[in-house]
Amino acid sequence: MDVMTLSYVNLLIGLAGVILLSLIYKNAQSERHLLFWLSASFALCVTSICGVVIRSGVEAPYWLVPAGANLATISFSAFILSAIYVVTKRRVKYHWLFGVLALAYALNHTDFAQVSTVNRILVNFPLIIVLNLLAIKQLLAQTKSELSGVYRALIFAFVVNIIQLGTRFTLLILLQFDLVSPSQTTLIHSLGYYGLTTYAFLTLGSCLCLVYKKSSIEMRDNMERDPLTGVFNRHNLPLKLQNELQRASRSKQHVSIVMIDIDHFKKVNDSLGHVAGDLALCHVAEVVQKQLRTYDAMFRYGGEEFLICLPDTPLSSALNIANRIRKHIEQSELSALPELKLTISVGVATSSTDVSDWQLLVQHADQALYQAKRQGRNQVLHYDGAAIISL
Ligand code: GH3
Ligand code: MG
Ligand code: MG
Repeated sequence: MDVMTLSYVNLLIGLAGVILLSLIYKNAQSERHLLFWLSASFALCVTSICGVVIRSGVEAPYWLVPAGANLATISFSAFILSAIYVVTKRRVKYHWLFGVLALAYALNHTDFAQVSTVNRILVNFPLIIVLNLLAIKQLLAQTKSELSGVYRALIFAFVVNIIQLGTRFTLLILLQFDLVSPSQTTLIHSLGYYGLTTYAFLTLGSCLCLVYKKSSIEMRDNMERDPLTGVFNRHNLPLKLQNELQRASRSKQHVSIVMIDIDHFKKVNDSLGHVAGDLALCHVAEVVQKQLRTYDAMFRYGGEEFLICLPDTPLSSALNIANRIRKHIEQSELSALPELKLTISVGVATSSTDVSDWQLLVQHADQALYQAKRQGRNQVLHYDGAAIISL
């Protein structure tokens, strides 16, 4: 493929990105990172059009070609870095973003840069490499993300780009010192066009995978999560408990169930209103979750009732966890409602050889919980055979 054809290919990739991402953004305007991917695609179109202009032999002012074209190439990487920051929940500092772009444009107008293409490459490449390295650093920090597959693909794209830029940078330096034959110059420049095509294809392709993966995670969460508190709803509760019970019986371990009910919650709604009641529910869910391990699962069981499944947890540990949670709720304060004092009653039940049915285990925890209510609330009780025992 000659360089002119490659410029058209890059333009097509950029245009496809602009059209597809605009359509996706129209239906998902809360996904702010799409605006940056969209800007990156637009920058790719600009740089490709400039490439076509240069190759066609059309006279263009310096501020447009090559200075504007180089600015568009750097913007492509800068916008992708910004998109990655948004996706990984890091704030984009706009003064930095536009500062870097202004610096890049200014550097392209220096006497040194105006002398030759080689000088401009020496000015622009380090900037792109730094932007790529910052993106890799940010992606590597996302250790436990469900999007890690897409992040790895993006890291691959940046590494390929850095290798390509680094190789060309080295060859151009060698050319300056006559260590490479000048006849290789065209080859070095075509390598750049191939490099941009690969880089654009890999990054924008990863972007589409990211959009797809994010929307499927969101769909799954909408189905499995309670929209108010963000904890699991009852959708997967039977399956989760049944699986944990089977696993426990195979490994001769125990599963414990903790049932939580907020005390006198109706009074919260009646005295402070339902909005305050909702805030209190979210607060309880947040405080409880902070006390759990990564493999514990918290479900909203009913209105103001939560169920926690504690795998590999014998009764004594489950009681410790339950009582720690109870104390944290009692001592916690809601900044929006400082006058609100919440307490919870808790029932605990642990699996045993004769309990292989999740519903029976929940029933036992429920019985302990209602006994805790009867005994005066703000306490933890557990089910032990036929008896309900206080801690
Ligand atoms: P007890 O100590 O016996 O548990 O008393 P209680 O008032 O907490 O129990 P009750 O079952 O009488 O009331 C539960 C209340 O929880 C009633 C209902 O309006 C409220 N509730 C349930 N779901 C929600 C919700 O999503 N938001 C709000 N704000 N309130 C809710
Ligand atoms: Mg209740
Ligand atoms: Mg209650």
